[in-house]
Amino acid sequence: MKDREEVTERELKDFVYVAQAARVVFGAGSLAQLPREIELLGARKALVLSTPEQAADAERVARDLGGHAAGVFAKAVMHVPIETAREAREVARRLGADCAVAIGGGSTTGLGKAIALDSGLPILAIPTTYAGSEMTPIYGLTEDGLKRTGKDPRVLPKTVIYDPTLTLTLPVGLSITSGMNAIAHAAEGLYAKDGNPIMDLMAEEGIRALALALPAIRQDAHDISARSRALYGAWLCGTVLGNVGMALHHKLCHTLGGSFNLPHAEVHTVVLPHAIAYNAPAIPVALARMGRALHSEHPAAALYDLARSNGAPYSLRQLGLAEADLDRAADIAVSNPYWNPRPIERAGIRALLQEAWEGTRPAA
Ligand code: NAD
Repeated sequence: MKDREEVTERELKDFVYVAQAARVVFGAGSLAQLPREIELLGARKALVLSTPEQAADAERVARDLGGHAAGVFAKAVMHVPIETAREAREVARRLGADCAVAIGGGSTTGLGKAIALDSGLPILAIPTTYAGSEMTPIYGLTEDGLKRTGKDPRVLPKTVIYDPTLTLTLPVGLSITSGMNAIAHAAEGLYAKDGNPIMDLMAEEGIRALALALPAIRQDAHDISARSRALYGAWLCGTVLGNVGMALHHKLCHTLGGSFNLPHAEVHTVVLPHAIAYNAPAIPVALARMGRALHSEHPAAALYDLARSNGAPYSLRQLGLAEADLDRAADIAVSNPYWNPRPIERAGIRALLQEAWEGTRPAA
């Protein structure tokens, strides 16, 4: 442990830190604060957004809002198709909504962002997974089968209500993979080129909180204290994602998700230990912080254990990727150069993908 302390305290680099304004209301039962929060935004009529699966939650929120609800739009789907975004913008305009309330995971928050991008409507997010989109100015839109992502401060939700009671229904499997997805933001944030000491604090604490919470949620999905800790961790990790640049892990997941249509949170869960093992030789300080948060000398292996021992998938093979696709995945992954702490070499990435496909436990 002493060595790890020494490594992390070794040097303080120069940095630039820009605070991104968002009001966060956290606590079990905090959904009840929604009318007050809408009022504080200076808004009067909210369009409530959700996926079809969470339509009942959206209806309940709208009912509770009474005259402050403009209506419900429960058509959010993964990857924000432009047609859905256009329809939602039109519905918001027609109903005279002056804000949107997005209750759900990254897909629903993403729809809210698509509305805000075009209309400037303020978004109030009520996250019910650990994906972290609510804390970032990053948006994605899919047009003609191509997902375009961008960054715009207008899409950052103005207010976020974190109510852990809303996560009690998140199935255990999705809770674990969504939590690993959040950890991935923090893990890569710890070695971001544009990192800063505030984000390091949040990243380390975020990993610690989720690593503690996920096994407890596996034991008892209704453990409100574990659910609260996980959502707190997700907030921290999402903030890191929104503030600093990501590298190899996120690019690889983007490739695998986009080109091979693999599920978002599961891909993050499987790839993360291998991406960290690949970068390990180049990131001693980040590894030391991850090690402190995970109580392990071998963070990549600890991440693998955290996922696998809690029943999450641990190989790309399990996710349905064909071994024959690994060469093409490696080609795509190295085709667009980007910054990474360890240089991106095709042979190394191909080996990483093989290990992730087989689901071997990293040694690092
Ligand atoms: P999701 O929003 O697609 O939700 C998955 C499913 O779980 C949906 O059917 C949803 O209705 C359901 N669900 C959500 N919360 C639930 C709950 N508490 N109880 C029961 N069911 C619940 O999944 P996600 O992983 O949160 O989001 C993934 C998407 O978010 C991806 O498209 C990803 O690219 C995007 N994302 C964007 C950012 C960003 O910064 N822009 C960050 C992270 C993720």
